[in-house]
Amino acid sequence: MAVNSGWQPPSQAGRFFATLAAIVIVAWGYMTIPSGCETEGAARSRSSLPGSPLEKNSTGSNATTASASVGVAKDFVEKPKTPPPLERPLPPTDQPNIRVRVAAVRDEPVQLTHPSGWLWLKGENAQAGRTFRAPIAVYPVVDGWRIVEAFGTTQAVSFRLKEIGSLHAKAPQNSSGAIQFNGNMYLGNATMVRRADINENASDLVFTVPLEEYLPGVLAKELFKGWQANTYQAQAIAARSYAACEMEWWRNRRHYDVVAGQASQAWVGATSDAKSLDAVANTRGQYLVFDGRVVPTYYSSCCGGLPSSAVDSIRDGTWTQIAPLTITEKGRRTMCCEKAPVAKWQASFSISETVDRMNEWSKQAGRKDLGPMNGIKSFVVGEKNSVGRSMTFLITDRNGKRFTWDASDFRVAMNASANGSSDSLKSSALEPRIDNGRIILDGRGYGHGAGMCQYGAEFMAKSGKSPRAILERYYPGATVVTMPETSSASATTSALVSSPKP
Ligand SMILES: [Zn+2]
Repeated sequence: MAVNSGWQPPSQAGRFFATLAAIVIVAWGYMTIPSGCETEGAARSRSSLPGSPLEKNSTGSNATTASASVGVAKDFVEKPKTPPPLERPLPPTDQPNIRVRVAAVRDEPVQLTHPSGWLWLKGENAQAGRTFRAPIAVYPVVDGWRIVEAFGTTQAVSFRLKEIGSLHAKAPQNSSGAIQFNGNMYLGNATMVRRADINENASDLVFTVPLEEYLPGVLAKELFKGWQANTYQAQAIAARSYAACEMEWWRNRRHYDVVAGQASQAWVGATSDAKSLDAVANTRGQYLVFDGRVVPTYYSSCCGGLPSSAVDSIRDGTWTQIAPLTITEKGRRTMCCEKAPVAKWQASFSISETVDRMNEWSKQAGRKDLGPMNGIKSFVVGEKNSVGRSMTFLITDRNGKRFTWDASDFRVAMNASANGSSDSLKSSALEPRIDNGRIILDGRGYGHGAGMCQYGAEFMAKSGKSPRAILERYYPGATVVTMPETSSASATTSALVSSPKP
């Protein structure tokens, strides 16, 4: 037993009883300091948008769900406690580590395992860690963590660590293979962060991964397998640049930089997909820059020929008020993604269902200016952007009361009740009409429409265009730079002290 580790092995009697009846063996550690994780706002509202500067809704068609991201899509909007930085980041010269939240685990344990049969755990404030037999189940408790090793077997034994900070997990030293969670394999080290602000059983599972190791798992889930290598390379540069901006923004604001899902970028974790690995390796250290600083390279699945500016669809601010993210084309984006299966689509809802969803959302978001509505008498487009994408809707209810909804809020409201993962409205580029008691919505594209259109990139790549040509089209004025690495981050063990062998 390691001195000062905060852990004690179970007694033989304890093992015996734990085996029979899962009796908890309590091993108290050291008093600790709070982890300091920040709170999140649960509801998305117009007023909270500035706090979500790099929120995006990139949905490569393989990325419509995030299976390991429990609750991710619902609570990603957060208000920063400090003002935004004035400058976009410089392209990094060292390979940074990115913190990816793969799951927001609520009211259930985090279950992790590793091919070696062992996992090493350490409390944030403990001086040493300890190895446990995998699989493990981790429960946050009021003043610490409860860990069950050999979870689900007859050898199961429970431990307690008195630690109100986070709990780190990593593979044993000299072992190979990735940590497994929820059927996926994840590179890097895991950290379980308690979320007492939500409830005492809630935690976030965050993996810390060197950026270049993170990126292949983004490409593997954002793009179709049959797509062009040049699309993959353009996506690699965009995903790297986007990630660098997220890291700059969130580093001192919350305990993760991105989520694995639509709210940031999809991430499958570890991947053996050669096309994804090659695209990242062939563009290693390449960032998209404008005025010498990294561009927050928002992208979405399909613009439907009606792109939006980042200011309109992401947030206002100095980061987005730059030429590469502004729509300057006089007309619609022709010859972009007309042949995409999601370029045009239609959805319809009964008026009563529409009203229910809008009223529920406005109530949850505390938007008294948006509801409640009493039925719908008329529903028309208000403002459009310079290329004709609907930006607001004007709605009059049966009492003659008028409401002005942002198209993006309307989309969120209608999707919020659609059983979570179902994107019944793929974008907010909508033309509404009322027909026979129903709201008919003619939609275009998939996602927010700012920055690169993934389907459009693929059509360009198919016609022989280079990754740089693709990026120059979708981020006009920006250029690709290749950063030398002055020192390389060691792979996945760099974030924690070395672990003992089991
Ligand atoms: Zn497009």
